[in-house]
Amino acid sequence: MTKKIEKKADVIVIGAGPAGLTTSIYLGRDKFSNFILTGDVGGQTAVSGEIENFPGYVSIPGLELIQKMKTQAEKWGSEVISTEPVKKVEKVDENTFHVEAEDGHLYEAKAVIITSGKKYRKLGIPGEEELTGKGVSFCATCDGPLFRDKEIALIGGGNSAVKAMVQLATMVKKIHSININPELTGEAVLLDKINSLKNIESHPNSDTMKILGDTLVEGLVIKNKDSENEITLDVAGVFVEIGSVPNTDYLQNVCNLNERGEIEVDKTNMTSQEGLFAAGDVTDVLAKQTIIACGEGAKAAIHTANYLRNKS
Ligand SMILES: Cc1cc2nc3c(=O)[nH]c(=O)nc-3n(C[C@H](O)[C@H](O)[C@H](O)COP(=O)(O)OP(=O)(O)OC[C@H]3O[C@@H](n4cnc5c(N)ncnc54)[C@H](O)[C@@H]3O)c2cc1C
Repeated sequence: MTKKIEKKADVIVIGAGPAGLTTSIYLGRDKFSNFILTGDVGGQTAVSGEIENFPGYVSIPGLELIQKMKTQAEKWGSEVISTEPVKKVEKVDENTFHVEAEDGHLYEAKAVIITSGKKYRKLGIPGEEELTGKGVSFCATCDGPLFRDKEIALIGGGNSAVKAMVQLATMVKKIHSININPELTGEAVLLDKINSLKNIESHPNSDTMKILGDTLVEGLVIKNKDSENEITLDVAGVFVEIGSVPNTDYLQNVCNLNERGEIEVDKTNMTSQEGLFAAGDVTDVLAKQTIIACGEGAKAAIHTANYLRNKS
């Protein structure tokens, strides 16, 4: 039996982060019908805390920026449909794509733009899975206030970790900064802030071994890579900020992915599959930032519109 199509449009956008919302604004203004299928509204930008590098705003909470983008997309006729994650994208004929969500709902469009971004990378150590949401967190903005006046560990040494540290330092009693490398790396302005903070204890060259606790986090075992000494830190929270992986599991054998699992796109944001476009952090674009996701989303919409006009 053929499955019922829930909804049809010229274009389906997958993901409602800054890339997807910008894409939808551009498509709507160009009078291409579209809707967004998404797990959440805002993606990583919604949990980015204060954003200080989006032109036009000296500083704005990520969530507020996203709400403005969503309002603008809806003004131009977009509908944001919260759904179970998309599990399948299929080109069924020359002019038609089918997109299926995990709840089994099926959607149809003439072109698809993927903006499904990235998700947090996990440590893969004992205690992490069991204690996620019970003291183990992947989001400083969301969970930082739960650890007011407590000691926490923050694992990671790159820009996301540094940004999270600046945020958390104002809330928690003390941060143990666990870095596998000798030095933190990140934007100079953030590193300057870190140097001025008094409640951070650094544990460089350290591996994270085990998170302790039964119903809640009670400690973290780390091991110095030089001395091989293991110590247990008495912390109530463990924040993991060790990078991210693209949300492309559902695109195996649909379009070309690079060795990091990112979607390969050409200058027009087209993937290796004609009519299937992609933008933002999910692609092989080298820099991953909110402003870049917006710019790439705009490009993808413009080229998708050109593609559809040339087809008709
Ligand atoms: C902690 C942190 C701080 C940051 N700080 C800054 C900053 O200060 N300045 C800056 O410019 N950038 C910052 N960034 C980076 C910025 O947030 C990202 O570059 C940007 O959000 C990428 O946008 P995107 O739309 O490509 O993807 P995302 O924001 O990742 O959005 C992806 C969307 O796709 C949806 N999705 C995923 N999989 C599926 C699926 N299978 N089906 C349906 N929907 C799906 C998600 O629910 C989400 O809505 C930060 C990131 C983090 C994590």
